[in-house]
Amino acid sequence: MNCFYHPTVSAIGLCKYCQRGLCAECAAVVDDVLACKHRHEDEVHQLEQLTARNLFQSKRVGSAYTRNAIFYGLVGVLFTGFGAVQYRFLGLQAVFFIMIGLFLLYAASANYFEGRKHK
Ligand SMILES: [Zn+2]
Ligand SMILES: [Zn+2]
Repeated sequence: MNCFYHPTVSAIGLCKYCQRGLCAECAAVVDDVLACKHRHEDEVHQLEQLTARNLFQSKRVGSAYTRNAIFYGLVGVLFTGFGAVQYRFLGLQAVFFIMIGLFLLYAASANYFEGRKHK
């Protein structure tokens, strides 16, 4: 492949914005990727910032869901276990604890699967 702007010179890479071939003279390096010099430097910079931000956000969201899942899971197990142990003494009140525990376990699994979607 040859440079889009100099058809006789072989290209060293593609502009990230317009995907045209660039020779060493036409290529500008923006954020570690190539761009048409004086044409698409700003566009490529904005593209790179956008993808970097998206990667950062999806990673953060995914780990927040996992953290919630662990938290809900632990508290859910605590409530369910407490209710089961205390059932003999507390009766209906213990059932109430077990129900909260089961609800938290449900919330934990919902968060876990939601977090996996973001990976
Ligand atoms: Zn370009
Ligand atoms: Zn060129």
